[in-house]
Amino acid sequence: MAIPDRFLDELSSRLSIVDVVSTYVPLNKRGGNYWGLCPFHHERTPSFSVNESKQIFHCFGCGKGGGAIRFVMEIEHLPFRDAVEKLAAQAGLTMPNEEGGGNGAWRERRRRVLELNKEAARFYRSMLARPEGAEVAAYLQEKRRISPKFSARFGLGAAPDAWDSLIRAMAEKGFDKAELMEAGLAVAGKGGNIYDKFRNRLMLPVIDVRGDVIGFTSRVMDSDSAPKYLNTPETALFKKRSILYGINYAKNTKRPNLILVEGNIDVITMHQAGFDNTVATMGTALTEDHIRLLGRYTKELVLCLDNDAAGVDATQRAIALLRSSDISVRVLQLPRRRTEDGQLVKQDPDDYIKHFGGQAFQELMEQSANSVEYRLAQIQAGFDLSRDDQRAQYLVAAAELVAGLSSPVEREIYGNRAADAAGISHEGMGQEVERLRKKRSWEAKKKQERQNLVPTQQLQPQDRRLRYANVRSARAEEGVLRVVMLDGGYFRQLDDLQAEDFSSPLLGRAYDLLRQCWQAGRPASMAVLEGACSGEELDHLAGVLQQPQPAHTAGAALADYKRIILEERNKGTMQSAEDLNRLRDALKQKKGQWRTMTHE
Ligand SMILES: [Zn+2]
Repeated sequence: MAIPDRFLDELSSRLSIVDVVSTYVPLNKRGGNYWGLCPFHHERTPSFSVNESKQIFHCFGCGKGGGAIRFVMEIEHLPFRDAVEKLAAQAGLTMPNEEGGGNGAWRERRRRVLELNKEAARFYRSMLARPEGAEVAAYLQEKRRISPKFSARFGLGAAPDAWDSLIRAMAEKGFDKAELMEAGLAVAGKGGNIYDKFRNRLMLPVIDVRGDVIGFTSRVMDSDSAPKYLNTPETALFKKRSILYGINYAKNTKRPNLILVEGNIDVITMHQAGFDNTVATMGTALTEDHIRLLGRYTKELVLCLDNDAAGVDATQRAIALLRSSDISVRVLQLPRRRTEDGQLVKQDPDDYIKHFGGQAFQELMEQSANSVEYRLAQIQAGFDLSRDDQRAQYLVAAAELVAGLSSPVEREIYGNRAADAAGISHEGMGQEVERLRKKRSWEAKKKQERQNLVPTQQLQPQDRRLRYANVRSARAEEGVLRVVMLDGGYFRQLDDLQAEDFSSPLLGRAYDLLRQCWQAGRPASMAVLEGACSGEELDHLAGVLQQPQPAHTAGAALADYKRIILEERNKGTMQSAEDLNRLRDALKQKKGQWRTMTHE
């Protein structure tokens, strides 16, 4: 739902980007700008600038840029609307409501959807004891060995194999079509009919920390049906990137950490085995939102993801994401193990506990590696340490990892451990690590120097798709944007310059947006562009607008810019006219040749 322009104008007039940024980044004023260390890339000397009068930020190092909204989107990992909402709260503004219903109407709709979800969960649960749910009940008991107690605890249920059993049951409770659709429990069919979204499935209600049923996840019963797992679609209440299945119970655990597994059903078997600290994502990779939620309840996360290529990849990525949080990480890898009758057990927590019991799992927990150990083991697995050449390669790879650790104590511990594994002296390893650290800091310094040397005038957009086709014209187009941002009144001198005259589609679009804004009597602000451009586009625009444009020369500069743009555009059309003539000549010749050929 679009946010009204008026609201964005009001918001940008009340906000100062310097205030917004400085709650995250310490800033110092130097010249016309504020400067600080960029929060989006690692650096030692500040190349992150904030301009108060233009209300933009721009990093000369990594190229990120935009206005206050983009800054909050990037630093808090929020979508546009949520970033606006956060800033609005800071500015003391109430978000305008979609459909003009006011806040109360929205709250009422939310309450109805939650009520509907709860009733639906009750309905599915009641089916489990009836013939319609017999297959699911058998699956839970025989295949998954979930006890009646834990089946009840997690509110498990069955969706009958029918097109409208839920719809009819909910209609009796007073819920209408629109509400069923909004909750994602029904889907529209042909001719205005709706039918049950979940059919012939095991139903798992998804419950948030407050105890509300916010949606469902489900598993098919007949193995031919796809998809195997099906969730409630994304709604205002059901956002997969921030949901942790099982958190409603795990948040109260007495255990010292939380365990993250892949499967939702695994969560239940883990709780049943006594690991009431287990959660799972809804089939997505771990996100920043998940980490924020986890951080409210624990200081340590045990990653127990599948031991296949995808699981290893997900583990590495989760470790990388968690590195910048306060949560420490351990990695529990389930070993390949056979049962007494020689059957190889699938490496997931559900099967592991089913065959070897909770105590065996507890022992694995105690042996689980921290993230550095895990990554070292991953590196080690890639080399044959009985061969000298492979040992040398291992040394280099392990030293790379160790050199990246910020604590000297950790560097020593893990450096020594890696050296022992390869039969290399501790000193040898230590020297390699130090060499790498020196190399890295030298490279970082060089990179910074190179960046400082690049004249901003020569900047091409970083994103290849935005590259300028005509640099001379694009420079002038950039200049026009700077002048009109300075004062929208300059648009009066630009009646004869249209967005189509611009050689860069992005700059042309920005020009058009700002002009429309001015024509509507609104201030030309960064917020206008932020609502209409992609992140990459904003990075570039902020870099363009960040460059200085003195007010006293703006009028004269604008006349020059306009002349250049029109000159270049005319050159372009002339060129294409010449090209066309040349093409015609070439065609004539071809035809002539063809004639002579056929006459022969
Ligand atoms: Zn940066």
